[in-house]
Amino acid sequence: MMDVKTLESQHIVQTYRRTPVVLVRGKGAHVWDENGREYLDLISGIGVCALGHAHEGLAAALAAQARELLHCSNLFYHPLQGQLAEQLAQLSGVPRAFFCNSGTEAVEACLKFARRYWHTRQDAGRTDIIALEGSFHGRTYGSLSVTFDEHYRTPFAPLLPHVRFIPRNDAARLREAASSSTAMIILEPIQGEGGVHPLTADFARAVSEVCAGTGALLITDEVQCGLGRTGRPFYFQKLGLKPQLVAIGKSLGAGVPMGAALIQEEVAQALSAGDHGSTFGGNLLACRAALFFLRELTDGGLLGHVSEVGAHLENQLRALAAKHSAIIEVRGAGLMWGLELNVDATAVFESAVRQGLLVNRTAGTVIRLLPPLTITPAELDRGITLLDAAFSEVMARVA
Ligand code: PMP
Repeated sequence: MMDVKTLESQHIVQTYRRTPVVLVRGKGAHVWDENGREYLDLISGIGVCALGHAHEGLAAALAAQARELLHCSNLFYHPLQGQLAEQLAQLSGVPRAFFCNSGTEAVEACLKFARRYWHTRQDAGRTDIIALEGSFHGRTYGSLSVTFDEHYRTPFAPLLPHVRFIPRNDAARLREAASSSTAMIILEPIQGEGGVHPLTADFARAVSEVCAGTGALLITDEVQCGLGRTGRPFYFQKLGLKPQLVAIGKSLGAGVPMGAALIQEEVAQALSAGDHGSTFGGNLLACRAALFFLRELTDGGLLGHVSEVGAHLENQLRALAAKHSAIIEVRGAGLMWGLELNVDATAVFESAVRQGLLVNRTAGTVIRLLPPLTITPAELDRGITLLDAAFSEVMARVA
């Protein structure tokens, strides 16, 4: 077989540090590499393959759509965007959607629409953006400007001005930073890349008070924690937040690139034709995938399933933490979990891969799990057994 790694090293821009595994096939919660080795997949393409891999129903729906019409651009109507936007409105309580192709683009759209809102209101004093330390919102200039990590930011400076970062869950610092100059506050209800940190109910209350008091718009980035990942449609609902804008992506297309900005009416009314656009955004293939996914999530009972298996996973992870002293905190909800370690997580991650388990290391010291939403309790038990073996192997080496 062609040497994938050599070929890439010559022709692919080297912006990724890939794990040396070449994946060629998947089924449900499992994937196989080019040598036929099987892995249990508890990261599912960073929380994208929500229905697992090679889902028969999704494959059939996409094949049927491909035979009919894949793409027609936004110069014309097609039947699916309105249906999808209506279903997203029912799930979120946010009535309008703008479709795009990734989480980053969804965040970018939210930032632009929030700016446009203040422009329409002719409030030139609304310059400031408040974001949280530990945030990740994407890699384009706008989304990068509200992303905290200096490693991602510094090489690309100067970024957007007037962005202030405050510590997550620090209501006092939020109150101090916010004023009548605050145009928007952007936050992940559960920070993902930052190490799986749910926001607290107290902080969420402070966010709502500050938004009400200053008039600042609230953008919740639900790209990772939204769309059923936590057992609820959106985590902002659990926190009692009332965002004017919501960014979604990842699971929305269940593997087909798809993102959306959900927008309250008052902001949508500030927008005009030509303000924003996308050639591919909301094309028929992506909408078909998202409609299929949402049907599984609601009518198909996936939301309830995530709550059930999520509670099971939480118990298992807490038992694992009680056994291995390297795990100092277990954080998350539903099927989004982080294990905070008192050591770098690289060795555990590498050992897991050797055991045939795919997880992820994030924020240096965190092992993150984002399994397919369709995963079974038996598969999760197997994952815990493999993770247990990985911790035992690494700790035996350190001892
Ligand atoms: N926001 C959040 C919360 C994310 O987790 C991510 C991706 N990890 C993004 C935005 C960017 O999404 P994408 O990579 O699809 O552009």
